[in-house]
Amino acid sequence: MQNNDLFNFKATSDQCIKCGKCIPVCTIHNVNSDEVTSPRGFIDLLGAYQDGELELDKRAKDIFESCFLCTNCVDICPISLPTDMIIEQVRNDIRKKYGLAWFKRGFFYLLRHRFTMDVLFKLGYVFQTCGFKIQKEIESMEPRFSLPIIKKNRLLPSLGKTSFLNAHPENINNGGKRKVAIFIGCLGNYNYRQVGESLLSILKHLEIDAFLAKAQKCCSAPAYFTGDFNTVDYLAKHNIEYFEQFIDDVEAIIIPEATCSAMIKIDYEHYFHDQPQWRDRAVKLSKKIFMATQWLEDNTDLDKLLQSKDKRNIAVTYHDPCHARKMQGIYEQPRRLISKNYTIKEMSDPNACCGFGGVTMQTEKYHFAKAAGVPKAAMIKQSGASVVSAECSACRMQINDSMYQANVDVEFKNPIELIAQVLEER
Ligand code: SF4
Ligand code: SF4
Repeated sequence: MQNNDLFNFKATSDQCIKCGKCIPVCTIHNVNSDEVTSPRGFIDLLGAYQDGELELDKRAKDIFESCFLCTNCVDICPISLPTDMIIEQVRNDIRKKYGLAWFKRGFFYLLRHRFTMDVLFKLGYVFQTCGFKIQKEIESMEPRFSLPIIKKNRLLPSLGKTSFLNAHPENINNGGKRKVAIFIGCLGNYNYRQVGESLLSILKHLEIDAFLAKAQKCCSAPAYFTGDFNTVDYLAKHNIEYFEQFIDDVEAIIIPEATCSAMIKIDYEHYFHDQPQWRDRAVKLSKKIFMATQWLEDNTDLDKLLQSKDKRNIAVTYHDPCHARKMQGIYEQPRRLISKNYTIKEMSDPNACCGFGGVTMQTEKYHFAKAAGVPKAAMIKQSGASVVSAECSACRMQINDSMYQANVDVEFKNPIELIAQVLEER
């Protein structure tokens, strides 16, 4: 498609040849088999909306909020129609017309104000045991009672006592020959702190200095997928201005999170399509933004270091996050690194979306996320692996809950954690 057409609902609708190839792979269609909740249906409705033939009423809102933004349809479409991107755009129209639910406004406020988030999460750490049952050595927690937006009988990530960014100095010297910055992401900062700790351990073994970039703010993906473009504008511009201050002093900004890296590397450019100066600044920065395993595999001797270590008798199955494989083409690097010391047992469809879907899907439409998680939990079990891995904390949260619902007892580890465990072995 022409670049100008990427956000044009009518142009997308006119180009759809109605072949239906996208329908069997569509995550929402597989749990809600209605033509209107399929890529072809979404595109048709969006064309009608732009033509003035469809009102953005509550039913249309409900339909457009049911897409998981997994990009399975874009991947398989013979002309790569950007269904996900036009749905992101219409969600901004929905937000303008209907506003945001109170809890989303509160959540996005916290994403914009990290200090308040730090304080609140610290309080959350203290009080989480009152409302939640802690599971698996504080990896996850189950609500003891039903809250308005958090359903009972589901597993959520627990909170750390101190955030990853607050637990370390900003500059970590590992020899001074090379230097990278780390973007950690909100779930890695507050919930899955071991990912950042493991990344620091790997950099230490490779003698690469780490700059923690403490003024980083949320990449803005949760707001982008919910249509809160005011929050995206604020967070993306803050991060771009901040990264520009140190980008020439580091080889790369590495991110152990698929969604955050795809947002900063790819979706900032999409978001700023109508603000050319900001788009150009985002594109320039994107050349130094990498997912952690991608950069480590392509630019360091990590594979040789791992080769010198013993093979472990542990089978790992690797789940491909949508924002890694489909958006960034990254699937070989994590597997190559993991396979040095672990046996990889592929699940039947590692590229199938886990069903996370974003803030709306995890709250108001949790029934869809829960249903979409069933096949993923089953294929993890069938793989026979004792560990499931993915370089994405959103996938981790969803997959842990899906396995909990299905009684599947498989441990989740980010590939960065698996690698660090090998290096730390004596
Ligand atoms: S992005 Fe995923 S859920 Fe949305 S229409 Fe495409 S395949 Fe379906
Ligand atoms: S695969 Fe592409 S062209 Fe075919 S129906 Fe789906 S969106 Fe239209």
